Amino acid sequence: MLCKQTFWKKYCSMPTSFKHNRFIKWRSFSSKRLAFLVAISVFIFLSSLSFWVSFSNYDTQKQHLINYSSHYEINSFSASKKALNIHAKTIFQTSIYKDDIFQLMAKAYHGNSQVKDEVRAELYRKLHPIYQLLQLEHIRQLHFHLPGGISFLRFHRPAKYGDNISSVRYSITQVNKTKAPISGFEEGRIFNGFRHVFPIIYKDELVGTVEISFSVDAIYELMTHSNREFYKLLLKKDVINQKVFSSERQNYVPSTISDNFLVDKAVEGMKSHINAIPKPKIQKINQALRETFLKQLDRECNSCYFIINVDQTYYLVNFFQLENIQKIPVGYIVNYQEEPGIKLITENFLQHMLINELLLFIISLLVFFFIRNQIRQRRLLHKMARTDNLTGLTNRSIFKRALSENIKRSNKKQWPLSLIFFDIDHFKNINDTYGHLVGDKVLKKVARNIEDGLTHKDIFARWGGEEFVVLLPNTDLHNAEKVAERLRHKLETMTDFDIQITSSFGVSDLRPDDTAESLMQRGDEMLYISKEQGRNRVTANPPYQA
Ligand code: GH3
Ligand code: MG
Ligand code: MG
Repeated sequence: MLCKQTFWKKYCSMPTSFKHNRFIKWRSFSSKRLAFLVAISVFIFLSSLSFWVSFSNYDTQKQHLINYSSHYEINSFSASKKALNIHAKTIFQTSIYKDDIFQLMAKAYHGNSQVKDEVRAELYRKLHPIYQLLQLEHIRQLHFHLPGGISFLRFHRPAKYGDNISSVRYSITQVNKTKAPISGFEEGRIFNGFRHVFPIIYKDELVGTVEISFSVDAIYELMTHSNREFYKLLLKKDVINQKVFSSERQNYVPSTISDNFLVDKAVEGMKSHINAIPKPKIQKINQALRETFLKQLDRECNSCYFIINVDQTYYLVNFFQLENIQKIPVGYIVNYQEEPGIKLITENFLQHMLINELLLFIISLLVFFFIRNQIRQRRLLHKMARTDNLTGLTNRSIFKRALSENIKRSNKKQWPLSLIFFDIDHFKNINDTYGHLVGDKVLKKVARNIEDGLTHKDIFARWGGEEFVVLLPNTDLHNAEKVAERLRHKLETMTDFDIQITSSFGVSDLRPDDTAESLMQRGDEMLYISKEQGRNRVTANPPYQA
């Protein structure tokens, strides 16, 4: 059946000895391949396991570190906001909450424009020295207003007053309404910052309000610690577009992180502190953020963080949501900081992985050699149990088994079956003349020559000593005789040695009442007749007469 298929056709047409060698090679290659497959499976399984354990360990460590750093920054952010509030209150209590200042504001409120001008000049004169000092403390605005939100005195722009800012400044409207102080982040037409607005109440009457505002870098200053850091303020584009007059929008530029956010040029332009991460690095981090996290960032998040690797350095980027006084999210304060811990953990993880992989590779190599040897040993034992040591041919017991199976099959399928016994003539003389070793070589040569003269379906075995047997399945007596004659001629004309050998053949064919023993017995008898009749001949049993 197999021989009809393309691959096997080629194999079947090969000489038997060649097939034998090929078979051994194929089997040894297969043992290597099998061992390789087991070893590679062991390697892949253990590697995956090791990677999973190491990675989850690495991930937990990294998460702990990031959570710690991130929480530290979140706490630092809220503590800094509180600190600014306390700072503003202190300024208000010590410098503004004074009888003469409050009296002046009451006078301005009730006075005509001339009185207002006088009061404005007086107020400016009194508070200007303090304002100068406060500027060093990141105070951007000290701004007095009259009730209703009418600007009275801007210390940063004293010449501009009288405009009503209540429409754009929720904080001032609110203080006018509640007469209670208010504080928080508030975006403005020109300036964004942490604003604190206090009511000025003189003799139970609201005579004005005062705003003490810190620029965003006041928060940066408070939050900055020893690490290499950087801060940025991102404001939502739609918030700015709503609030800021188009004439003032040139104060904002689009953020490199996302087109939906703007950055305040004034804040951007501020001098970075000495230990800050250089701006070109920040640009690179922002580029990475833009590519990777754009979508996430555009969504609302209370506090998000991202790990960015730029030029072999890990940066932790925290986004703190910024709500304005009205509790509306208006953007983020972005805190960038170098995180050397992550690099350390990552290097540690990679080192572990490398060592693990190396060890696993060695283990797999050992597994490979162990399994290959096991397979080879088992195959050798298996082969030894089936073959004759000297000639490598099928041995007697395996032949007997094959004979019984073939008799059964032939009886069942009504196929003919023939048997050839042959024995080298006067072999004793060869041993005596040339020695046993030469005798052995002759036996091996005989085996190879006969193998080459048979087809793949024939079963050829060493019966014992210098006696061999060939089983010819599906071959009738006439054809078996022909085969025996061909083999006899082959041995007679063998030129491998200077020694000429001849052999005597006995051929028997399967009869309906035959057993393995009777078939062999008849073959042996025919061989005996060949010997009797002068050797180097073929004798077949007479055809069966039913
Ligand atoms: P005949 O023509 O009647 O068969 O004569 P013969 O000499 O071949 O037969 P005999 O049975 O007298 O001798 C067989 C010899 O084969 C005797 C034995 O030493 C030799 N012999 C059997 N097995 C081996 C073997 O494995 N190697 C060698 N070198 N010789 C063997
Ligand atoms: Mg002999
Ligand atoms: Mg013999």
